[in-house]
Amino acid sequence: MKKYLLPETGNFYKANLHCHTTVSDGRWTPEEVKKNYMAAGYSVIAYTDHDVLIPHPELADENFLPLNSYEMEVNAPGKWDKHCKCCHMCLIALEPDNLTPVCWHRSKYTWGNAKEIYSSQVKFDENEPDYERVYSPEGISDMMKRGRDAGFFVTYNHPAWSLETALDFAFYENMNAMEIVNGSCVTAGFDDYNPAAYDTMLLTGKRIYCVATDDNHDVQPLGHPGNDSFKGFTMIKADKLEYRTITSALEKGNFYASQGPEIKALWFEDGKVHIECSGARRITANYGVRRGRKVEADSELLTSASFGFAPDDNYIRITIEDENGLHANTNAYFADEVYKD
Ligand SMILES: [Zn+2]
Ligand SMILES: [Zn+2]
Repeated sequence: MKKYLLPETGNFYKANLHCHTTVSDGRWTPEEVKKNYMAAGYSVIAYTDHDVLIPHPELADENFLPLNSYEMEVNAPGKWDKHCKCCHMCLIALEPDNLTPVCWHRSKYTWGNAKEIYSSQVKFDENEPDYERVYSPEGISDMMKRGRDAGFFVTYNHPAWSLETALDFAFYENMNAMEIVNGSCVTAGFDDYNPAAYDTMLLTGKRIYCVATDDNHDVQPLGHPGNDSFKGFTMIKADKLEYRTITSALEKGNFYASQGPEIKALWFEDGKVHIECSGARRITANYGVRRGRKVEADSELLTSASFGFAPDDNYIRITIEDENGLHANTNAYFADEVYKD
């Protein structure tokens, strides 16, 4: 019997789950982001401006869903310079009416454009003391836990840009997902395509998902090679484009991460995982054990592959690589869950 790892029914909605606008340090207004991303086939944007949870319900329509979200940073102690390590995370509200940011703290963005433009929507008490951010595994795991407990989907962002290694992020608990692709950082020359980091997370016991995002700031205009939009997207499969339906698909992991290639179907049947995709020159399976599988295109590009998946494998995650060297990554699916009932 087929067990669908991506839902059999529903539609794929193209999403950018990490985005900056003029509310913080991005160059496009929230409206321009909607316009430009819709023209590129997107239906969902998580507006993750720095430090401020600003909803954009005015942008919602039947073909576009803005998610309420924000990005927080924690810097290592000392002067902020090119040597300074840091940790960034995005928090996406699962419920549309959850407008209370956790770990609230004052920053230049709190009193900047956000206050100016959206003062009526910024929900915080100006007398409230700052949450004291601490750059340590405990401090970061605490922020992620507070986010989860308060009903947010929490992602861990761009480890390469942050100068973080496995000695840091392997100890961060409570995230829902990590960025396997951060398009802006990749565009800027950082090695923020992170499949090995994702395996490290999984091998250290974290059952987390992977997302591909833009983290766009659009400092360079559309069409310029340095423009950081449309470099990483998450394809969410859901029945309809409605806030809670989409965030519920995020919670369940009903999505894949991509720089370009498409995954059309993914299911488990008779001890094998089957994938259908857009043209690929290479499809690989990683298992979290000492076993790997790879299929290479011959004269024609591949559009499907099947990989054995045994009950004593740890997990399976599949990577598509297209002719341009761009990747699509599935989430990891654990053997004990796939083989359950
Ligand atoms: Zn960031
Ligand atoms: Zn960002």
